[in-house]
Amino acid sequence: MCHGARAVLVGVLLLSIVKPALLAQPSPDWKQIETEALHTLQAYVRINTSNPPGDVTKAADFLVDLFTREGVSVTRYEAGPGRSIVLARLKGSGTGGKALLLEHHMDVVAADPSRWRRDPFAAAIDDGKVWGRGAMDMKGIGVSQIYTFLLLHRLKVPLARDVILMAVPDEESGGALGATWMRDKHYAELDPEYVIDEGGFGSRDMFAPGKLVFGISVAEKKIMWLRLRAEGVAGHGSQPHPNNPNDHLVRALNRLMSEPMRSGRFSVIDTMKARIGALTDNKFNNAIQQSTMSITSLRSGVGDPPRSNVIPSVAEATLDCRVMPGTTAAQWLEELARRLADPTIKIEVIYEGDDPVVTPQDTPLYSALESAVKRRHPDAIVTPMVVPYGTDANGYRPKGVKSYGFFPAVLPAASIMSMHGDAEFIPADSLLPAIQILFEAVKETVALKSPR
Ligand SMILES: [Zn+2]
Repeated sequence: MCHGARAVLVGVLLLSIVKPALLAQPSPDWKQIETEALHTLQAYVRINTSNPPGDVTKAADFLVDLFTREGVSVTRYEAGPGRSIVLARLKGSGTGGKALLLEHHMDVVAADPSRWRRDPFAAAIDDGKVWGRGAMDMKGIGVSQIYTFLLLHRLKVPLARDVILMAVPDEESGGALGATWMRDKHYAELDPEYVIDEGGFGSRDMFAPGKLVFGISVAEKKIMWLRLRAEGVAGHGSQPHPNNPNDHLVRALNRLMSEPMRSGRFSVIDTMKARIGALTDNKFNNAIQQSTMSITSLRSGVGDPPRSNVIPSVAEATLDCRVMPGTTAAQWLEELARRLADPTIKIEVIYEGDDPVVTPQDTPLYSALESAVKRRHPDAIVTPMVVPYGTDANGYRPKGVKSYGFFPAVLPAASIMSMHGDAEFIPADSLLPAIQILFEAVKETVALKSPR
């Protein structure tokens, strides 16, 4: 321990003698917390929760054990086979309002080990990074929430409101047997004023080069998953005819994609640009500034593998569309039909997400997050942001919950872009500062204020 730290500690002790204030908790041993958190992250990543199949039983066992060892009571729900939900709660007086919910998902997207340089479930720490599926999305983020929660418990911080930590399954396949199930079946047990989930983060190169920006996600684009279906006439490949559905689909998709996307106006993006300046040209920033669509599958042919000499009668494509606020589902479908310019192609909506709702930024939790970031990083720009992907956080917004997506770690763009990729990692030294910022901000929002 250095002299400076000892002086601070003595100061804290004196303060607690002079004024036995409710806020005077001992300071955590941060070095110890960092070691623990990294070990927990490694153990968590090593539990393969790939979705599909999305079985999180062992991850839920792991978390139940962890909380039970700490003396925190845990409730476990089963939304379906292998779809456990873990809910741990710290009771508050209730005088400070409704609960603050820290939520993360236990499932991860699948990893193909043959495409990885390292074992995706070994969680090796190498080159200063924790490598593995879920290191970022979202077990790393989950660990920052777990230690925020445990620190409130260990330090016996008197709470003015409940703090709930919830770990859910099924996020990577839409959340029907995860967060959505809990909201539908057990909302009274949650009923939060605030939610913190994945979404935003800090980065020095993601938003604008050389600027340290922390984005707190306050909104998402509307998800629309669509299936396009062209029907035609089957026949022998040796004799082309005009009713080949593959021809129709390919030409229509070409028309669909060749017209550039118009950029719409959205208040959150305007705020981001006002605070940051021009955003770097990368796939993330491009996606948050306009509606997007990706062709995610093409399916056609007769037989498996498809016969080369048979014209099929059906060809299908799926599209993942993320629509900017201000465009309705009907308007989007109309726009798509116009671009496809082929009325014989059927457009089917496979899934439609909620209409975007923006969480306001003038809330005590947002301010607490912003100040905690700025105390640690005085040079940082903090801004509300939109994320291009969907998260469970969004499902709370239509209920009036102030829902933020935020992991206050400083991450290189490469780490952020590694989510769902073949080399997912999180810088090992980014975890502790994220825990410290999250802990400070949450504590400020949930702790009983000392009497004056
Ligand atoms: Zn995620």
